Amino acid sequence: MPDLRDLDRQIMWHPFTQMAEWDPLVIASGDGNYLVDSNGRRYLDGVSSLWCNLHGHRHPRLDRALREQLERVAHATFLGLTHEPGIQLGAALVEVAPSGLARVFYSDSGSTAVEIALKQSFQYWQLRGRPSKQRFLRLGEAYHGDTLGAVGVGGIELFHRIFGPLLVRSIAIPTPAGTDGAASLALLEQELVAHAGDIAALVLEPLVQGAAGMLVHPKGFLARAAELCRRYSVHLILDEVATGFGRTGTVFACEQEGVSPDFLCLAKGISGGYLPLAATLSTEEIYAAFLGSRQELKQFFHGHTYTANPLACAVGLESLALLREATLGNAQAQIPNVALALQRIRQLRGVEQVRQCGLMAGIQIEAQAGRYLGAEICDRVRYHGVILRPLGDVIVWMPPLSLRTRDLDLLEGATAAAIREVVG
Ligand code: PLP
Repeated sequence: MPDLRDLDRQIMWHPFTQMAEWDPLVIASGDGNYLVDSNGRRYLDGVSSLWCNLHGHRHPRLDRALREQLERVAHATFLGLTHEPGIQLGAALVEVAPSGLARVFYSDSGSTAVEIALKQSFQYWQLRGRPSKQRFLRLGEAYHGDTLGAVGVGGIELFHRIFGPLLVRSIAIPTPAGTDGAASLALLEQELVAHAGDIAALVLEPLVQGAAGMLVHPKGFLARAAELCRRYSVHLILDEVATGFGRTGTVFACEQEGVSPDFLCLAKGISGGYLPLAATLSTEEIYAAFLGSRQELKQFFHGHTYTANPLACAVGLESLALLREATLGNAQAQIPNVALALQRIRQLRGVEQVRQCGLMAGIQIEAQAGRYLGAEICDRVRYHGVILRPLGDVIVWMPPLSLRTRDLDLLEGATAAAIREVVG
């Protein structure tokens, strides 16, 4: 068999990766909160395999749910058919979601979950006789995925600028992170007063903007923004792709401010980190606008081949049960310990700031001209047995919710060692 690293270098093209400087690490297996490489080395999965793993790898209950579904059927389309795991997971999501969210539309990724909310909001206003409501509001530094619709409501210069000419344009409200939120809310209200008749929805991540660099919002911002949307008849689309399923200490982040949006976008943790799955939840009122006879052509013309994949739904159902029975409690218990670890990391030379929302954390490294310190530190931390991935000069901690104290000790020790070695 050819060396996998060589073969990867010859034929693969990896996401968000400068392939000219690519050094492959081949993952061979998973074991709880750890990944194991092809040489048998173990690494703590410090970013939950890109923010999706909740209960660790190869969890016996999730593996069993998957195998049992495999005995029945691996896939059947949700276009014109339905199936038990899709229906059962949908019912469980509606039960756990904030009140008012009553309808579940499945897709495959966080980007499509957001894309669907944008399109459903747009079509809703068309159907309700408000055709001028076509524009979207979003926060500064927003990230909602990589498909063109989602990039259109994004605001991360590095990722999004080049695609500018291709995009549905959106209106940015400055991120409230690092402020008391009053200025952002005042600008939001100004936009709504002037343009609500042209605006379909405000889209935002509740409590914390993940890919923007773990930017934590001031308390109360979400509730106030939601109130303004309601007052000016603009939909609120909450993107809980990163924050959902316990990451912030509650099943959904919006619960913490008592907010129930018009659309709730879910992905990543929805399948416990096992398989690609996403859902866009909406209200009965929105759903009802799409009803009519076939001739009226009001239906939502959008769907993906693997929408509601039964394997993903079966594992998602078991994952949600496990989250509520045990894993969420574990995460809640670890949040204060993570805070203490971050306070110690804050004391290190070269660390400018630490930010945390539940089990989502960012360590801001002081920038040095001409260096990519985030990437250098994350390369280095592997030698200490931890996998991390930076966002610019921010080191992200996003461990599985099944994090144990000894895992956190490793995460802290390895990160501190790597920062010292790189920053000096
Ligand atoms: N929305 C948010 C808040 C995200 O953090 C991400 C991914 O990191 C996405 C959307 C896109 O999700 P996906 O990568 O599954 O398309």
